[in-house]
Amino acid sequence: MPPELTRRRLLALSAGTAGTLLANPALRPAFAASVGKPRVIVVGAGIAGLSAARTLKERGIEVIVIEARERIGGRISTDRSLGVAVERGASWMHGMNGNPLAGLVRDLKLSTFFSNYDDYEVWLPDGERPEEWELEDAVDAFEAVLEKAADEAEEGSDLSLLEAIDQLDPGMLKDPLSGWMLSSEIEDDGGAPLSRISALQYGEDRGFDGPEALLPDGLGRVVEGLAKGLDIRLGEPVRRISHGGGQVVVETAKERHSGTHVISTLPLGVLKAGHVVFDPPLPKGHAGSIASLGFGAVTKVSLKFDRCFWPKETQFLSYAARERGRWPTMINLMPVSGASILTLVSTGDYALKSEAMSEAELQADISAVLGEMFGAEARPPEKMVTAQWSRDPFALGVYSYPAVGCTPADFNRLAEPVAARLFLAGEHTIFEHHGTAHGAFMSGERAAGQVIAALGG
Ligand SMILES: Cc1cc2nc3c(=O)[nH]c(=O)nc-3n(C[C@H](O)[C@H](O)[C@H](O)COP(=O)(O)OP(=O)(O)OC[C@H]3O[C@@H](n4cnc5c(N)ncnc54)[C@H](O)[C@@H]3O)c2cc1C
Repeated sequence: MPPELTRRRLLALSAGTAGTLLANPALRPAFAASVGKPRVIVVGAGIAGLSAARTLKERGIEVIVIEARERIGGRISTDRSLGVAVERGASWMHGMNGNPLAGLVRDLKLSTFFSNYDDYEVWLPDGERPEEWELEDAVDAFEAVLEKAADEAEEGSDLSLLEAIDQLDPGMLKDPLSGWMLSSEIEDDGGAPLSRISALQYGEDRGFDGPEALLPDGLGRVVEGLAKGLDIRLGEPVRRISHGGGQVVVETAKERHSGTHVISTLPLGVLKAGHVVFDPPLPKGHAGSIASLGFGAVTKVSLKFDRCFWPKETQFLSYAARERGRWPTMINLMPVSGASILTLVSTGDYALKSEAMSEAELQADISAVLGEMFGAEARPPEKMVTAQWSRDPFALGVYSYPAVGCTPADFNRLAEPVAARLFLAGEHTIFEHHGTAHGAFMSGERAAGQVIAALGG
């Protein structure tokens, strides 16, 4: 068995200036209706928005959640069309010790499956299998280069992981086995190509210890549990968030919602695209951070087959492609839910390439890879579930990462309240746990706490 790797384990391998009420006549009637009792509007019913709303409701504060989609959960999106739960977005609870999601899972009595990231098999191009020593060598080289990469970058002259690796061990970038590790460990975790990720900041975030847990019945059950009893308005894309004169107004295509405070959990991709107008505009510091932080792509495809033609018990099947990012990670759902389903992940530049493919092209691409790995044993899929997060208007990417030149302060600055009225939450506002479901959850609790503090609670 290859040595254990570092970080999220090989294989997950797979106070701004308030605008005045009078300055914006469009806001007057809505504000007039709601002055007085606290009423918080949460934008987005992802896990950050739901945790914020739940915390506020538990304190007896009136709260409504406005969600663009016709469903809750955001980037937690469990699909059941293949007969069992498959995840289009987040899969794992990364580390159960101290993880706030672990308590929810217990309270909701959900069953868990603990992944063993060391339980994998690797295939090289054309179906060759690496020798044990080749794998060990590649793992050692990977760990060594990752260790030194941060030293290559200096404060003020950051460089990308691609540049750092090219300087340290250029051969790694051409070797399929190393490419598999770089894609399944770094590009998957970072949600971006090596060429975009900061060598200085990558891996500086924190995680929780303990088992990495999947929920066989789907992570969607956690958001369903959180949402119980909340006033959630679905199918209302927010267009404008205004605050001033001690009030807030959130305008959607259907309605204008007024309140005393607003928590925005709009994903970083949506903030970057400027699809929602902030009035007054976000402070310069916030806007600068939004521009600097990275928001990338990872493609996830689940395929159901008539029978299992791969090693039934092995948790992860790994493909070391010639082209980095081409389906390096396959999660075998047979041990998790007893179904003949593989969930494949593509990363980095290949993630965008695969998102641009038609369903037929995608299926052909994956079939070609499975054909290399299993030859005539490989079967065509019966059904497929895909996700194209970077094309999804209510996400526009997967999760935040430290782009070259970013600092932890860029993430954390987004957590600073604006005029004690507008509060931001979401996975991109908490450096230590960015890019995770638990980080998003914690950011929601933090924003709710900020509102309570602003109310003098
Ligand atoms: C493919 C993939 C794999 C992942 N794997 C993992 C994993 O294994 N483990 C893990 O911990 N994390 C994982 N993550 C990350 C995790 O899913 C996110 O960090 C987390 O779910 C983000 O929650 P959030 O509430 O911050 O944002 P979101 O879930 O995106 O919630 C924001 C909400 O705002 C809504 N919205 C957007 N625009 C508007 C608008 N104009 N008006 C109103 N509402 C709007 C969205 O529809 C969404 O519901 C993964 C993510 C992806 C995409």
